[in-house]
Amino acid sequence: MKSVIVIGGGLAGLAAGVALAESGWRVRLFEQRPFLGGRATSYVLPDGEHVDNCQHVTLGCCTNLDDFYRRVGSTNKVKFFDRLLFLDPQGRKGEMEAGILPAPFHMTGSFAKFAPLSLADKISIGRAMFTILRTSGHPSGVDSPEGISMLDWLKQQRQTQRAIDRFWRVVLVSALDEELDRTDARFGIDVFWKAFLCNSRGYRMGVPVVPLSELYDGCRAFIEKKGGEVALRSAVRGIKIENNAISSILFDNNREESADAYVFAVPHDTFSELLPPEIADANLAFRNLDKIKDAPITGVHFWFDREVTDEPFITLLDTTVQWVFNKTALFGPSPTPAAVKNGDSKTAAAKQYLQLVISASYDLLQKPRQEIIDLCLKEVRQALPAARDANLVKATVIKEATATFSPQPGVDRWRPTQQTTVEKLFLAGDWTATRWPATMEGAVRSGYLAAEAVTRVAGAPKQFLQPDLGANGLVSLWSRKHIRST
Ligand SMILES: Cc1cc2nc3c(=O)[nH]c(=O)nc-3n(C[C@H](O)[C@H](O)[C@H](O)COP(=O)(O)OP(=O)(O)OC[C@H]3O[C@@H](n4cnc5c(N)ncnc54)[C@H](O)[C@@H]3O)c2cc1C
Repeated sequence: MKSVIVIGGGLAGLAAGVALAESGWRVRLFEQRPFLGGRATSYVLPDGEHVDNCQHVTLGCCTNLDDFYRRVGSTNKVKFFDRLLFLDPQGRKGEMEAGILPAPFHMTGSFAKFAPLSLADKISIGRAMFTILRTSGHPSGVDSPEGISMLDWLKQQRQTQRAIDRFWRVVLVSALDEELDRTDARFGIDVFWKAFLCNSRGYRMGVPVVPLSELYDGCRAFIEKKGGEVALRSAVRGIKIENNAISSILFDNNREESADAYVFAVPHDTFSELLPPEIADANLAFRNLDKIKDAPITGVHFWFDREVTDEPFITLLDTTVQWVFNKTALFGPSPTPAAVKNGDSKTAAAKQYLQLVISASYDLLQKPRQEIIDLCLKEVRQALPAARDANLVKATVIKEATATFSPQPGVDRWRPTQQTTVEKLFLAGDWTATRWPATMEGAVRSGYLAAEAVTRVAGAPKQFLQPDLGANGLVSLWSRKHIRST
């Protein structure tokens, strides 16, 4: 039986580990933290409260994440919603929902009624959408290696300022964790092509109905059942390379472990630190890793003494807060049994738990936590009248300065492939070459691609990567030959 060592128990490492275990490899997975899931996980606060390391959502077009959840028995822990609700500070509501028309017209009914945009805004958006549709998501001028920014592309498409602020920016800053002037247009256009145009189910939003760490319960059992091992609190400290092949990896107390292949599924800066400097210098793909920049996300958690909304989630327009998730509705009425059992009086008094998300939150990084809480509370009270009389019994702010890699124009040039020029060394991670942005889907794709590379090099190639959602409705009639699977 061939053996593989996977370093990193985030989604990329778990996807690679599960895929390789399924194909008969003995998998040993080493994770430095006491839990699995990496950035897409949850943990317990000192007061006993379970919090996600920020809300994570998926979309209908994320076919590989969907496949991964199915393999590890987590499909029923994610609930999909068909309706997206937007609220502006004037209290105007807008809804996006598929109607009876086939793709690409499935959203036209709700878009026509979308109150926060004027007719001129909608006409300009419709024109840009038509360009994306006509070219099956590949308009000319956006596929060059250096890329162009999404903002420049929108200006070329003569978008109104309000269409940019209240439509393109709202969707893309959340989806890609970056401002439009720092986002490669290819990523932005892909979001609209895959999620909103080509298939009427692509936009459906999947939200976990359990704390994130519970999504990975099945991974450990799966790997162990196939004769493998998952070791937590096991940080890899170094890589030993001889004659351009890995001979072992190093742990504390000079412990060494070896295998037939090694998948490094750690963040790119961690990988650079582990790599011997002479190997990094000699390899162009490794030398360019520092050109991949990071972008922040801030999560703000509010516990109120009464119900302030019955919506599962809401997008706010023209505010610092971008999304409000109603964790009480998503998790069920009692998300905090541990805290209540611990006798935490504030938690016991809380009747509704909301989680707010602010992507590309550069402006908040230096702000004191109380200032962020005050700002967000003001905006929530403005948007949700029932929150005006409610007492905030508890609040937490989680700033993630390096939440995702920044999808800057041309960033794909610096993302290495999963197979490397060093023998036995493979890479996984949302930052590797998948053509997807930093998402759970991108991480799982990278893990599957790494597993494919391992089996290919071993002479018994297997396929794990799932096809894209593909076109349906009227789109399937004319775009079949244009759709490029990534
Ligand atoms: C706040 C926030 C919100 C997000 N929201 C969304 C969302 O809504 N939807 C979405 O699709 N994506 C979202 N993302 C992005 C998503 O979380 C990531 O793209 C994905 O989880 C990355 O997975 P990964 O396995 O590539 O990396 P990671 O999750 O970073 O995994 C790397 C793992 O390696 C481990 N490790 C590091 N060094 C070592 C070492 N020396 N030895 C052993 N182990 C080591 C780490 O502990 C970690 O577990 C969000 C990210 C953040 C931070």
